[in-house]
Amino acid sequence: MKRTSLVQTQFLSAQDVASVVTQTGVAATLHGIADYIFDDYLRWEDFDKCARLAAHSKDGVIELMPVADAKTYAFKYVNGHPKNHRLGLPTVMAFGVLADVNTGIPELLSELTLTTALRTAAMSAVAARALARPNSTSMALIGNGAQSEFQALAFHHLLGIQEIRLFDTDRAATEKLMRNLKHTGLRLIVCENIAQAVRGADIVTTVTADKANATILTPDLIEPGMHINGVGGDCPGKTELHADVLRGAAVFVEYEPQTRIEGDLQQLPADFPVTELWQVLSAQAPGRTGNAQVTVFDSVGFALEDYSALRYMRDSARRLGMGLPVSLIPELADPKDLFSLIRPLTASHEELDVTGFTDFKELALCL
Ligand code: NAD
Repeated sequence: MKRTSLVQTQFLSAQDVASVVTQTGVAATLHGIADYIFDDYLRWEDFDKCARLAAHSKDGVIELMPVADAKTYAFKYVNGHPKNHRLGLPTVMAFGVLADVNTGIPELLSELTLTTALRTAAMSAVAARALARPNSTSMALIGNGAQSEFQALAFHHLLGIQEIRLFDTDRAATEKLMRNLKHTGLRLIVCENIAQAVRGADIVTTVTADKANATILTPDLIEPGMHINGVGGDCPGKTELHADVLRGAAVFVEYEPQTRIEGDLQQLPADFPVTELWQVLSAQAPGRTGNAQVTVFDSVGFALEDYSALRYMRDSARRLGMGLPVSLIPELADPKDLFSLIRPLTASHEELDVTGFTDFKELALCL
C-alpha cells in the first residue's frame, strides 16, 4: 500500500517556464512577478533572512540563497561565471525549490535561469518605480548580454521608458539585443561608448559581467536627477560603480548585510548610510527626495525575489496545466522503514548466492 500524493514534487523545466512566459506574454509576466515581489517586500518582517552562502573560485562563484516565512521555505542555486560564454554557456544559471515548512516536503523544483532574468528585471523596475523621477522616458543600458532584454522590457512596460541607449564592449551582444527587441516599440540607439549612452539619460542600468572592480560609471558621467540601477556588481571583487558615484547619491539596497559584502557598496565603510528598499515600499522611509537627487539601487539579487518568482511560476504553471509531478522523495508504507526501498534487491541477491548463481545472465539462461 503506497501513499502517493503526499510526496510528489512539481517539476518545471526550462521549456515549461519558457512556455508559461510565451503563453502569458512577457509584459504580463513582468507585471505579475513585480506584483508578487512587491507584496512579499511589504511582508519583509515575516521572513527569516540571511546573506547568501558563496563558494568562490578563480573564474566565478556558486551561491545558495535561502529564505523562509512560517509557511514556505525557498532556496536558489545560482552561479556567476563571466567567462562561461567561451564554453557556450550562460554566465548565470540557476534552479530552485519551494518547500512546505510544516513537513519539509519540496513542493516545487524549477528552473531559475530564465526566471532569474525576469525577476531581476522586475525587481529593478519595482525599485525604479519608487526611486526614479516619475517622468523618466530614457534609459542607458550598459551590458547587452543575457539579462539585458529583460531589463529593457521591464522598464518599458512597468515604467514607460521609450528610449534605450545601448553600449556593450561586444558589438555582437548589442546587435543580438537589437534583433530581439526590434518589434517592441522601443526606440533603440546604439552608442559608441558609455559616456555617449549615459548622456542625458533619466535612468542608467549597468548589467555587465566581469570578475573585476570595474568602473563602468564614474562621477563625471552622472547628471542631477539620474537613477542608477546597478545590477552587475554583485560579488566581492566584482563592482561597476566608482565609489564616488555612491558617495554622491542616496543608496538603496535589498538586504543590507548581503549588499555590504557583495554590492558596489563593498567599496565603502560599514557606516556609509543606505536604506533598505522594503522600508521605502512600505512608506517607512523616504525614497527620492528631490528632482536633482541622484539615486542608486545597488542590486545584488536577494533570495526573497526568488521566493516571489518561484511562487509566481508555480501559480502560473498550475493555471496553464504545465509541469510534471516527480518523485524526489521516496514513498514509504511505513515511514520508519526506509530500508524497504532496497530490501527486495538484497533478498534476490542473497537468493542468488544460495543457489550458487552469481551472474544474472547465467541465471536467466538456466530459467
Ligand atoms: P552576460 O555575460 O550574458 O552579459 C554581460 C555583458 O556585459 C556581455 O555582453 C559583456 O560583453 C558586457 N560587458 C562586460 N564588460 C563590459 C564593459 N566594461 N562595458 C560594457 N559591457 C561590458 O551576463 P548576464 O547574464 O547578462 O549578467 C550580467 C551581470 O548581471 C552579471 O554580472 C551577473 O552576475 C549580474 N546579475 C545580477 C543579478 C542581480 O540580481 N543583481 C541577477 C542576475 C545577474
